[in-house]
Amino acid sequence: MIKADQVYKSFGQLSVLKGVDLAVKRSEVVAIIGSSGSGKSTLLRCLNHLEQIDSGNIAIANEWMVQNNTQDQAVYQPERQIKQICAKMGMVFQHFNLFPHMTVLQNVIEAPMIVKKIKRDEIVPLAQELLSKVGLLAKQNDYPSQLSGGQKQRVAIARALAMQPEIMLFDEPTSALDPELTGEVLKTMQKLAEDKMTMVIVTHEMGFAREVADTVLFMDSGIIVESGPAKSLIDHPQNLRTQEFLSSMF
Ligand code: ATP
Ligand code: MG
Repeated sequence: MIKADQVYKSFGQLSVLKGVDLAVKRSEVVAIIGSSGSGKSTLLRCLNHLEQIDSGNIAIANEWMVQNNTQDQAVYQPERQIKQICAKMGMVFQHFNLFPHMTVLQNVIEAPMIVKKIKRDEIVPLAQELLSKVGLLAKQNDYPSQLSGGQKQRVAIARALAMQPEIMLFDEPTSALDPELTGEVLKTMQKLAEDKMTMVIVTHEMGFAREVADTVLFMDSGIIVESGPAKSLIDHPQNLRTQEFLSSMF
């Protein structure tokens, strides 16, 4: 579902991604771990075209979004096509980014109505089904300020799902939450995994990565240093830097 080859990205003089290769299969759950500043968020943002890469190739659902030309420069597809490709991906951020002046239900139906031009009568039942899936149907008429952090994040997940994505990208969805609220969000993501959603999750929750992810990637200084099946990578890391990182986490 996602294929990235030799992705390079700099901000000015700072090289952040230095040749990242990534392959995510349909229904696969991939967790990306690594220390602060290693480039995890930048990688997700490049997959979702929130940032442009300098060179490399990225394909989403078998369609090239960006490919190198003969000079090794990244050439993007026309904007219209990129929009269609990116519509296949939903993203959930650390800070939920809900619209504060809209109710929970309005937050969930807004993008499908505006972007996909789906009629309100059609999207409301889907939105309510998603809200009940994340355990928040009773809060549909509340405003974000009336919700806990964990509830806000579950609304953000329902909102991303309302666009009916084929892939979900999560950037540290629980790291802004109090420890007692992370469980409910992780459980929601686990359910999505059980429903066979393709997911890429940047996380510091090693227990979750070990249990729910199929594959774990360890990123260090803009490179994927080690990748493998979740349990074997977390329990028996081979690379010295992965070992150091994991021992600092437990
Ligand atoms: P964390 O675990 O703290 O979220 P991360 O692995 O997600 O870290 P990134 O956010 O991808 O790291 O940042 C990687 C590097 O790129 C950092 O040095 C950061 O300061 C830099 N960086 C990220 N975004 C930008 C930007 N828009 N402009 C300039 N530098 C940036
Ligand atoms: Mg980050």
